[in-house]
Amino acid sequence: MFSKRFADLKPYVPGEQPKDRVYIKLNANENPYPPSPEVSRVLREFDASHLRLYPDPDSGELRAAIAQMLGEGITPDMIIAGNGSDEVLSFVFYTFFDSDAPLYFPEHTYSFYPVYAGYYNIPYKKVPLERDFSINADAMLDGKSSGIIFANPNAPTGIYMPLQKIRYMLERYPSDRVMVVDEAYIDFGGQSAICLLKDFKNLVIIRTFSKSYCFAGARLGFVVANPELVSALFTTKNSFNHFPVDLLAQRIGIASCNDTAYYKKINAAIIDTRDKFSAGLRAAGWDVLPSMANFVLTRKSGLDGKYLYEYIKQNGILVRYFNIPGISDFVRISIGTPGDMETLLGVMKKL
Ligand code: PMP
Repeated sequence: MFSKRFADLKPYVPGEQPKDRVYIKLNANENPYPPSPEVSRVLREFDASHLRLYPDPDSGELRAAIAQMLGEGITPDMIIAGNGSDEVLSFVFYTFFDSDAPLYFPEHTYSFYPVYAGYYNIPYKKVPLERDFSINADAMLDGKSSGIIFANPNAPTGIYMPLQKIRYMLERYPSDRVMVVDEAYIDFGGQSAICLLKDFKNLVIIRTFSKSYCFAGARLGFVVANPELVSALFTTKNSFNHFPVDLLAQRIGIASCNDTAYYKKINAAIIDTRDKFSAGLRAAGWDVLPSMANFVLTRKSGLDGKYLYEYIKQNGILVRYFNIPGISDFVRISIGTPGDMETLLGVMKKL
């Protein structure tokens, strides 16, 4: 009854979404603040009769709004939108990575990459991180990869690779192979590599509205790359799903692009909360990796990640641990409101 392909699937397991009890939820890197009031207004005023019709298959108006928001000479033909960045990642894997040489990604990075590689039969190599958990750029550049993908800031470490290092990698990477930088967390203090697109035609950037734009629930992500690569991604999209972005997601995406001041304000608050929380943990003897994301990866000597997760959960707060060699003694904590983090710090200080 089931295909051979199906038997080989190894699906991604997302952070838990329990319904049994109300937890302070700091396990999926969601934004603790609501989307812009402009988004609420669009939803309030939305005429449901518009749902009769299919949405714009290419999200034209949305892509124009994103291009305008990004600036840096980005034009709508350099953008393709999808149902969350997970979906545009799927288009990218299908379009650019093949089975003749391995795709390289860091040993610890977004755990969906090996899932898609398995799904599309793409061989891959996990490149060990440096001792300080940063990405080993030179090891990614040994000339044997068919493509490179990593998150910047990386997940789950939160560690940011400076722009000069990304330029260094692109200068040394063959221009006929694609290097993907997944900027899901770039708005929490890092500088986007979008400004490098004019110099490197093989650079592909992934962005999402789930984190810094506060709507993981509505699903919207996009790619920024040169028009030739984007046109190839459209071919893939139109061979899979004509209408990946529904009408409501397109409308609230546009509203979000038109209120960047709001997002700058709330994301600055998250950065401030993250830095205070990290300082508080360090003062209490925790090892906290330097994060430029809306989460921190932290451990306390002698304690195991699963134990930490369970102890914190018993105290009404959900965080995430990884049963993966090399990071199994850490927990990843998403940054919530100052009140959430104060409560959590109180719990963690008892450990
Ligand atoms: N990339 C990275 C690095 C992520 O952590 C996530 C969220 N788990 C995604 C992409 C996917 O985000 P979304 O599909 O919600 O846009």
